[in-house]
This record gives sequence, C-alpha cells and structure tokens, in this order.
Amino acid sequence: MSHSHAAILLISIIISAIAGLAFGWFFGDLALKISWLGELFLNSLKMLIIPLIVASVISGIGALGDIRKIGHLGSATLLYYAVTTAVAVLTGLLVVNWIKPGAGISLADTAVPEHIIAKQETGIVDIIMSLVSSNLFASAVEMQILPIIIFAIVFAVALTTIGERSKPVLAVFEGINEVMMKLVVWVMYFAPIGIFALIAARLGLAGGGEAFFQEIKAVGLHVVTVLLGLTIHFCFLLLLLQLISGKALSYLYGTSRALFTGFGTASSSATLPITMENARENQVSDKAAKFVIPLGSTVNMDGTALYEAAAVLFIAQAYGVELSMMQQGIVFITATFAAIGAAGIPEAGLVTMVIVLSAVGLPLEGIGLLLAVDWFLDRFRTVVNIWGDSVGAQIIDTLIIKKAL
Ligand code: ASP
Repeated sequence: MSHSHAAILLISIIISAIAGLAFGWFFGDLALKISWLGELFLNSLKMLIIPLIVASVISGIGALGDIRKIGHLGSATLLYYAVTTAVAVLTGLLVVNWIKPGAGISLADTAVPEHIIAKQETGIVDIIMSLVSSNLFASAVEMQILPIIIFAIVFAVALTTIGERSKPVLAVFEGINEVMMKLVVWVMYFAPIGIFALIAARLGLAGGGEAFFQEIKAVGLHVVTVLLGLTIHFCFLLLLLQLISGKALSYLYGTSRALFTGFGTASSSATLPITMENARENQVSDKAAKFVIPLGSTVNMDGTALYEAAAVLFIAQAYGVELSMMQQGIVFITATFAAIGAAGIPEAGLVTMVIVLSAVGLPLEGIGLLLAVDWFLDRFRTVVNIWGDSVGAQIIDTLIIKKAL
C-alpha cells in the first residue's frame, strides 16, 4: 500500500472509530442492527489467518536456511517475549499496589459464566499440552492457532535440512504468502466501515452510552489503574524501540492501522494479517516479521498479562484480602502463564484469569465485578498485545537479522 493510501486509510479509521463510539453511545439500539457489517469485516480477516500463518512461518523460517540461525532467532525471540511479559506483569502489580483501586469497593453479586468456571481446572500442564495437536485440521477448524504455528515451525526446520529438494516447496509457500498479503491489503480497505460497526454495536450491546457510563463508574478506579498500567507499558516498549532502532515514532505511525484494528476487533489473532502487513510496510525484514509476529500473537500478550495481575489484586483488595509478597510472586508467575495460554480472541484474558485467582485461593465470584467493563478494557489490552509483537519484530530485526544472525 502506498504512503498516501496508508495515510488516508489511517485517517478514515480514526474518524470511523470515533464516529462508532458516538453512534453506539447515542443510538445503541440502531447500532445493533449494523453489527453484521462488523462481523463481515471480522470474518474476512479471520478467513486469512490460517493460510497466512502457515505460509508466512514456513517461508520465513525456511528462508533462514540454516538450523543454527533458526535457533539463534528462536532464542532471541523467546527472550524478548519473556522479558517484556515480565515487565508488563510487574507494572500491573506496581500500579495496583500503589493506587489500591479495590479498597472500599462493594462486591457485586453477578453470576460467573459457565465457560469461565470450566477453565478453573486448567493448569500449566494443560497449556503445554495445547502446543501439540493430534489433528491439525481440527485445530484449524477450531482456530487453535498455536499448535498450527508449532507444526509450521517444525515443518520449516525440517525443510531446511533436505537441501536442494526444499527449493520448490519453499517457492510454493513464498507464493502463497505473497497472495495472502495482497488479500490483506484488499480487506484493509474495509477497515473503516468494519471498525465503525464493531465499536458502535458493542456499545449498543452494553446498553448505549448512559448505561455503560454507570457500569464504568462502579469500578472507575480499577479502569483508571488498568489504563494507566497499559499506557506505562506501551511507553516502555516505545522507549525500548527508540533506544534500539532509533525510529520509534515513525514505527508507531506505521503500525497504527493494526493498533486501531485491534481496538475495533478486540482480537490480536484477527488483527494478525494487518499487523504483518504493517511490519512489512515498515521495512521489517520478512525473516523477523514472519516468525516473531505470528508466534507473538498467541503467546506474547503483554497487555493481557498486565491486566490479569492487576485485576486479581483488585479482586483481592475488594475482598479485603492482603496478598503477601510470596502470594504476589505466585500471581506474577501464574499471570504470565495465563497470558501465554490466552487465545488472541475477545475477552480470553478474563477467562484464563481464573487460573490466577485459583492459584492464590481467591473466589471466582470476584470476576463478577469485572464482567461489565471487561469488553472495554479488553480493547486496550489487545492494542498493547499487538504493539508488543510489532515492537518485537523490529527489535529482533535490528539486533539479530540485520547483524546477520
Ligand atoms: N483480546 C485479547 C487479544 O486478542 C486477549 C485478552 O482477552 O486479553 O489479544
């Protein structure tokens, strides 16, 4: 996409996001009637995910051509994910200990949905088990992206070991990848309409602006705390990027279509095609982007990790439970795993949060406090999740790929 097209599209997306908020706020009922437009946009993005992931991961890793280079890229990427997620969880813990948003909150009597209670039994072993699928097609149907990425990585690694015969295979996946990226650009032109409808309809579902405002007021300090934490982490990544690549602001500008789409869809997986396209436009090399971004979109969730830690401490405060340093350490570890285990879909973080709550023995009913506003905070943490992956691709590109591994 040319620079001028990208700029016009970005302005249209910003205007449509604001218009969507206003429309949903004042005409909530009417907004529900156009929700199908948002669905259509979302479905077009989701349609691209599986073929794009398979083609990009295989062609990206395959192009490295040497198992040692893959190892190097892989370990640097995992290190980046681990460090930034740890910083995110720490930031969440710090802001919530500082602001104490849960003190003086009256506990709501909302029932916890079944699908959340069911997740209570999930442990770290389940998260590890979910890495490998017994049936890739079933995983594709279920949109379980992680096992598909793992397979694509292993496939690509094996491909690099078969010499000359890998060339035609690689060429096929490179071709498919190019086609998918073309489709992403076409779908992106519908982003303004899609984002408008998604935001307006979600606000409509919450009962329009007035009703939503009342919900927010009930846990206002929690909302402020989470938004502050997310902003701090967003800026931390921006600073890190500036220090390493020296072009943080232009990169932020170039990534903003993906960030707004993340805000509109509340799904980092659905946004993945646009995140990849933005990275490519920002001249992040294919070798980094094709590996760091798809894997990051499912395992590297800084916003979700920060949110889980902050929300669990908020619930503890609301119940008047003082969590010791040791227990906060448990929150730190489980929130990290819960974020890794969360899928890149709307409100997945709220569901995996029960793992953290159970680990420190807090009642699941605490989630009732957060249900009404979660869809709203979800959009902000999705933006941070996507930003974390985009920054990672640029950092790995600068530090590892450009230095010739
Ligand atoms: N919606 C988030 C994402 O797609 C996950 C979450 O619920 O935190 O990245």
